[in-house]
Amino acid sequence: MADLDTLLKRISEYAPDADLDLVMRAYFFAANAHKMQSRKSGEAYFTHPLAVAFILVQQQMDVDTVATALLHDVIEDTMVTREEIEETFSPIIGELVDGVTKIGKLEFRSKQEAAAENFRKMMLAMTADIRVILVKLADRMHNMRTLGSMREDKRRRIAQETSDIYCPLANRLGLTSWRVELEDECLRNLHPQAFTDLQQAMAETRGERLEYIAETSALLSGKLQEKQLECTVSGRAKHLTSIWRKMESSGVPFEEVHDLLAFRVLVPDLPSCYAALGYLHSFYNPVPDRIKDYIAMPKSNGYQSLHTTLMGPQGRRIEVQIRTQDMHNVSERGVAAHWQYKEGHLALSKEQVNSIHGLREVFETAREVADPDEFMEAVKIDLYHDEVFVFTPAGDIRGFPKGASALDFAYSIHTDVGNKCVGARVEGRMVPIRYPLRSGDHVEVLTRKDQHPRRDWLEFVKTSRAISKIRRFLREEERATGIRMGTTVLENELKRNGSGLKDVVKSGMLKKVCKERKLPNVDSLVLALGQGHLQPGVIVRELLPDKDWSSQDGEDTSALDKLIARIRERSVSPVLISGEDDVLVTFARCCNPIPGDEVAGFITRGRGISVHRRDCAQLLALEPERRIPVEWDGQFKGQHTGGIKVICRDNPGMAAKITKTCTESGVNISALSMRAVGDERAECDLEIGVENVNELRKLIRNLMKIKGVLSVDRLAQGA
Ligand code: MN
Repeated sequence: MADLDTLLKRISEYAPDADLDLVMRAYFFAANAHKMQSRKSGEAYFTHPLAVAFILVQQQMDVDTVATALLHDVIEDTMVTREEIEETFSPIIGELVDGVTKIGKLEFRSKQEAAAENFRKMMLAMTADIRVILVKLADRMHNMRTLGSMREDKRRRIAQETSDIYCPLANRLGLTSWRVELEDECLRNLHPQAFTDLQQAMAETRGERLEYIAETSALLSGKLQEKQLECTVSGRAKHLTSIWRKMESSGVPFEEVHDLLAFRVLVPDLPSCYAALGYLHSFYNPVPDRIKDYIAMPKSNGYQSLHTTLMGPQGRRIEVQIRTQDMHNVSERGVAAHWQYKEGHLALSKEQVNSIHGLREVFETAREVADPDEFMEAVKIDLYHDEVFVFTPAGDIRGFPKGASALDFAYSIHTDVGNKCVGARVEGRMVPIRYPLRSGDHVEVLTRKDQHPRRDWLEFVKTSRAISKIRRFLREEERATGIRMGTTVLENELKRNGSGLKDVVKSGMLKKVCKERKLPNVDSLVLALGQGHLQPGVIVRELLPDKDWSSQDGEDTSALDKLIARIRERSVSPVLISGEDDVLVTFARCCNPIPGDEVAGFITRGRGISVHRRDCAQLLALEPERRIPVEWDGQFKGQHTGGIKVICRDNPGMAAKITKTCTESGVNISALSMRAVGDERAECDLEIGVENVNELRKLIRNLMKIKGVLSVDRLAQGA
């Protein structure tokens, strides 16, 4: 209880009008939920969430974040559900706690630097509200502080993960004070000897260092104030990790590390920053090439300051950082500064948010609003939200553009995996190839030997890799069909003239004709025949130069026509449309035939038989001699695209009712467009997927039942 009093008191110091009741309720709720649990160290478990809350209070965070910190482990470790938290507290708190739980479950296994980067991006992409990350970082801070009670190997593993994931994350978000603490805790656990040695060396030089810092700070501020420059100067030793890194990278012992000390000059405004820099350079010689202007060129995490290194008093190299109070605030707290209370009020002003370069993309919408509440609402982090990151079965992480499907994932594994993909298993659940990937998904591709790419795949894949692989397959398939058609055409024409394919191959004439026509190979010749670019009669005359052509009466019935005739003769029984693997059959886009419809076939050049509805206007306009009877095979399965036009009253909510009816009838909508047509009427065109015409008729009947619907018709022409 003393803890709670302290917590509330600290909050009210920086936020007098904050909702302390919320914090109090979260405290009791979490204390109660964890009451039977204890930590490795033997302490009551609740000491952990409480400590995390204190870490966030130290950053002067808003009460929602503090409450989330108190509740952050209840979903994972107790019987409490997200719904319960939403009901007891608020939807926001439910979302935040759920978010912390979700990213807490992510497991990082890889050792590669690039993989760690993807893992961090995945965490951010999964996070709708960046306060989730802040709580997670605070959680990790406390875990690192209390690693002592863990086994050595476990300590190392957690420290390594912290070093790979959380330190860079704190850096990316500009949380300098947290990064520094995390880095030193990592050093302590990963390089214990170096840590102890450094700590000792620092302790031995402490007295002398403090003295130098005090003298130099006073000296610098005195000199600057003489120039009428208002300022506060302070100094400190750099953190152990940065000293250790310097020793490692330049291979020098502790005694020889320069720039051990960093001084900070805080000035009232931006022009004073540059003025201070100029004066300091006139007092002490700057070390060349060590001046950095992070004000004009802020770091990507929003950090702004002027840096310089001087040959300071007693000839010692000192690093100096010059900045304003606002820049300082951001430099210490980074993104957390936005939820910080200031003089009792939440968040920075619009101008201040604007001034934080580099994090701009995060606050794209937030910048537009002035009201703090609205600001809170608007700051849904967009850092990596145009990408999604998913796990492969091996535990690797892959990034995709937002909206990418399971099929895109399959193509990222291997072209064959993509070509044979029939769906995926995500978190143990079967999903279709169109399934849109979500960050954090574990995806396993399902393939089948007889699967192959289809044209409609191009409508939903997002990655250029998948698009080009599908296109390539379709091109090759079209080519193969063309070659098959061309071969038949050529064979027939040769046969009619008493020869055969084998004969012209043997006589060498086939190759010779290709060469004369400057075609690279026989396939190209056959393809040209199949696609109707070459006349078979003409080619056969070239192939059979010794034949006496004078007896022919000049008539040159094309072999294609012959083929048609042949199919027609045979076609007392119609061509069966037996299934999707039947490459000779395509479905006409103009009328979208569906199994059950009366249909007719049309022999195209190179694309096999195209199936139309028997009354299709397009079909009726085409050469009748190339029309052939076709029929549906009863076994036929699979989705077909159909078009429907609904005419209805132009009432609000009409589109919603129509889509609802489709869903309830078990029909997928692939496109919908609605427009007013006058007379208070509207026209709605639907593109839907159905298995057969009965399904379609049922849907039409159901649509007719909607109040306000005037007519429902199948579209003759594609919408
Ligand atoms: Mn925790």
